[in-house]
Amino acid sequence: MIDDYQSGPSPVPASTRSRPPAEAGERGAIFLDRDGVLNEDRGFVHRREDFHLLPGVRESLRALSDAGWALVVVTNQSGIGRGLYELADFHRLTEWMCRDFARAGAPLSGVYFCPHHPDAHCRCRKPAPGLLLEAAYELGLSLADSWLVGDRLTDLEAGRLAGVPRRVLVHACAASDQLHEGDQVAADLAAATQKILETSPVHRPESRRECDV
Ligand SMILES: [Mg+2]
Ligand SMILES: [Zn+2]
Repeated sequence: MIDDYQSGPSPVPASTRSRPPAEAGERGAIFLDRDGVLNEDRGFVHRREDFHLLPGVRESLRALSDAGWALVVVTNQSGIGRGLYELADFHRLTEWMCRDFARAGAPLSGVYFCPHHPDAHCRCRKPAPGLLLEAAYELGLSLADSWLVGDRLTDLEAGRLAGVPRRVLVHACAASDQLHEGDQVAADLAAATQKILETSPVHRPESRRECDV
C-alpha cells in the first residue's frame, strides 16, 4: 500500500491536465490538512517524536472511513524546499502515519504534499488547488461530493478553488467575515466529523448506484 502513496508532485502540473468527467458511483473524499488538524502544529514537523496526534483523531478518521469516505491528506511541506528537512524524512513519517491510521481502521487513500519553497510559486502549495485536483484525478474522486477540513483559511481556499463545496475550519479563531459560502467552523476534527456524518450519514457509491436504477 505504501508504494501507492503519492511521492511528490508529478512533473505535469495538475491544473493543466484535463480531468475525466465524474462518473456515477465516483466517491467523494474528506480532504484533510495534516499539521493542526491531525497532529499538533509545532512548525515543520518531520520527526516521529514531534508528531503528536490530536485527541480523537483516530476515532474520527475511523468513523469517516466506516461511513464510506475516502480519506486524503493534503499538506504543504515547504520545510523540504527551505532545506529544513529531507524528502526522505517526510516519507518516513508519512509511512509511519499511514500504518498507524490503517491499524486504527482508517486507511488513507493517499497523501499529497507540496515540497516547494513559497517563493517557487508552484501550483500545488495551498491555497492553490493543485494537490486536490491531482488527488481527484489519480484516485477518481468526485470533488463536488467532497469535504475539506483545515486549520487555516488557505486550506479552505484551496478546497474552494478545487470545487469542494463543503469546508470546515478547525482549531482556528478566524473572523467570520473571512469565510465564504460553504465554509463552516468546528472546534476540532471530531466536531467536524460530527457535522459531516450528520449531513451525509453514509457515503457509499454502491448504494448511490442502486438508487439510480
Ligand atoms: Mg495546518
Ligand atoms: Zn508545490
